[in-house]
Amino acid sequence: MYDIILKKRRGEELTDEEIRFFVDGYTRGEIPDYQASAFCMAVCFRGMSESETFSLTKHMMYSGDTVDLSALTHTVDKHSTGGVGDKTSLIAAPTAASLGLSVAKMSGRGLGHTGGTIDKLESIPGYRTSLTEEEFLNQVKKIGVAVIGQTGNLAPADKKLYALRDVTATVDSLPLIVSSIMSKKLAAGAENIVLDVKYGSGAFMKTPDDAKALASEMVKVGSSFGRKVSALITDMDKPLGNCVGNSLEVIEAVKVLRGEEKGELYELCVNIVSEMYSLAMGSTHEEALALAENSINSGKAYEKMLEWVSAQGGDVRYIEENTLPVGEFARVVRASEGGFISHIDAEKVGMSASLLGAGRISKTDRIDYGAGVMLQKNTGDHVRTGDEIAVMYSGDKDTLDAAEKMFVSAIEYSDTKPNDMPLIYGILKG
Ligand code: URA
Repeated sequence: MYDIILKKRRGEELTDEEIRFFVDGYTRGEIPDYQASAFCMAVCFRGMSESETFSLTKHMMYSGDTVDLSALTHTVDKHSTGGVGDKTSLIAAPTAASLGLSVAKMSGRGLGHTGGTIDKLESIPGYRTSLTEEEFLNQVKKIGVAVIGQTGNLAPADKKLYALRDVTATVDSLPLIVSSIMSKKLAAGAENIVLDVKYGSGAFMKTPDDAKALASEMVKVGSSFGRKVSALITDMDKPLGNCVGNSLEVIEAVKVLRGEEKGELYELCVNIVSEMYSLAMGSTHEEALALAENSINSGKAYEKMLEWVSAQGGDVRYIEENTLPVGEFARVVRASEGGFISHIDAEKVGMSASLLGAGRISKTDRIDYGAGVMLQKNTGDHVRTGDEIAVMYSGDKDTLDAAEKMFVSAIEYSDTKPNDMPLIYGILKG
């Protein structure tokens, strides 16, 4: 391992065998954390060639189980690089299934300022996030969609490495992010993969160009494994939609599925579904977009959501009657000055929701499903001093002061209307 670290530190290209030696040895516990940390740091400084990134992804993917979806047709998956208020999977999964695609999806939990799909789904009483492999595949065969938590042995090399990177300042390296995300997506088995690569204040990648570079690498790696991959590069400079927090986000997703909310969240979801459909079925983006919009407007996507949630044990009365519980303590946040809202820092809004109880600061923290922030105003809106800009909810009233302080620090005002940022900066295809 010493020689491999030295070789990478000198900027030389590693062989497939050297990378296998590192991944297998680290996963088995034979290579200690201090050598793995030095290796990751050397990669941060020196980068990796395309062939090294491919090898790293491959060995991480095969470090554990791979899911066999060959019994299903038109399998699609989507992945977001993470954001605040990102509930697109809750909308895209049933919409794609309503168009005849097979969505056998494994999702993650939230950590830090970003949320996770599995936590959001668990805010629906009864919803089972863990199914046996047989139940999982049968459900997708029968109704086209199942969403569960990641099984224990999917890309275990990534589990160990990601935890190590998190504490050694080695998260934001392109080859390490690409191999981390793609090893899990490839192991999860779908033929067609749509990536939503975020940029802005709530994302890893702060600029569209950095997000584009990440997207391009992920598309290349996925294609090298024979999968069809497409990546949307999208805005996460402000929270997505109006709600941040688990049950609040389910409530908002349901509104979109019922055709009651038609803003940026809807736009992004129909574009994601359109990419899923066009990859799997070979249609144009425009044809698929019309189908996705029609599925939502006709109520088909909403019906599919009810069928899916019910199949996984969720009590759909909470959805049909709009009675998912939100935190009993509410606080209205008002504009501290007048003018245009020029920026809403998504990361700070995410941290504010976490302080209310919606997220985890550390992995073992319990979540308050009803906690979160509902924005009443967004970037570009004009407000007068004292206008309501958000309502915060929590089950613990002692969290409200700190969360409000954090939220207020996320808002910037100006005398002039800010330039509109495009929601979708571009789409890359393999
Ligand atoms: N998400 C992941 O799963 N891995 C990374 O490295 C970054 C984001």
